[in-house]
Amino acid sequence: MQRQEPTAPGDRRDDGPVRMCCICRGRFPKETLLRHVCPGDAGAGAPGGLVPDPEGRLPGRGFYVCGDADCRRRFEKYSGWRRKCKGVRL
Ligand SMILES: [Zn+2]
Repeated sequence: MQRQEPTAPGDRRDDGPVRMCCICRGRFPKETLLRHVCPGDAGAGAPGGLVPDPEGRLPGRGFYVCGDADCRRRFEKYSGWRRKCKGVRL
């Protein structure tokens, strides 16, 4: 018999990658989340804000927000990433 740990993060490989929404901290399949990266890492010239990365191709640390309307709204004012993005000039 195999023991299942329903709360174990990220080990449901068969379901694909799971990421955490940085607003509600819920875990969702990666493809349902909108990825953003640190502006300094992406070099995409978006000072003062995270860079949306809908295709998930930009390098650097990713910040994910789920599809919930409240999360999307709160994400616009989310500033916790500033402490996590190193070397970002604001
Ligand atoms: Zn959320």
